[in-house]
Amino acid sequence: MPELPEVETLRRDLERVAVGRRVVEVSVTGRRTVRRQPPSEFSEALTGRRIEGARRHGKYLWAPLDDRRALVVHLRMSGQLLHFAPGAAAPLAEHTHAVLRLDDGAELRFVDPRTFGELFVTGDLDPTGRPRPLASLGRDPLVDGIDPSRMRRMLAGRRTSLKAFLLDQHQLAGIGNLYADEVCFRARLRPDRRTDGLDARQAARLSRAVTEVLSEAVAARGSTLSDGRYLDLCGGPGGFQHRHAVYGRAGEPCPRCGMPVERSRVAGRSAHYCPSCQG
Ligand SMILES: [Zn+2]
Repeated sequence: MPELPEVETLRRDLERVAVGRRVVEVSVTGRRTVRRQPPSEFSEALTGRRIEGARRHGKYLWAPLDDRRALVVHLRMSGQLLHFAPGAAAPLAEHTHAVLRLDDGAELRFVDPRTFGELFVTGDLDPTGRPRPLASLGRDPLVDGIDPSRMRRMLAGRRTSLKAFLLDQHQLAGIGNLYADEVCFRARLRPDRRTDGLDARQAARLSRAVTEVLSEAVAARGSTLSDGRYLDLCGGPGGFQHRHAVYGRAGEPCPRCGMPVERSRVAGRSAHYCPSCQG
């Protein structure tokens, strides 16, 4: 499932190839992909509009349009947003649910086998241009930043496991199962630690780990796992999967101390951690 680094990679790619282009034709074939509004309304709202930017909050991506509305993209479990250069004439992949043709002849295609992902156009934007339907999301660790004192206040207000805290999109937006495990490892904290038991030093370590891990993963263009589900805008894989310390590495040696990485369940999700150097 794409998380903040993967969506940020798409955002940067989109900025490079699609910003400034006009949408000339829209086709929606998937039944669930456009569900907040009738697909015909979606297509009408988008056709003829110029893409003015590419922005992100948490796992949501949006493109401000030239009529003060925005196209919002949420990949959820298995969505892919792919750009096909003009004249590429690639056949439509299975599970292609929406195609946006641009004025340079290129296409943006939304492919989504599990159909949890969605697209919508909204004019309901806050003064900063952020779609109001995303208002309940918490801080984005890279867009808004997260410092030790704020992290400590956020942790103190919750009585839950660290893993559940990191996954809660109303606290910090953008972290999912994979990066939650990597962040806990970097912070040397077990994912099942209680948030209200963490002291100031641990909170500082955690805020630093969140920023570092997500920034490094963005620099490596995200993680593509063996299922190949996440691809960047041009269909290429990310590179951060080669640098995972614990995620998907149960039984393999911890890169810090050599003890075998363990896998258990925390907050209803799998959690990977080193039993020796995460306390
Ligand atoms: Zn270790």
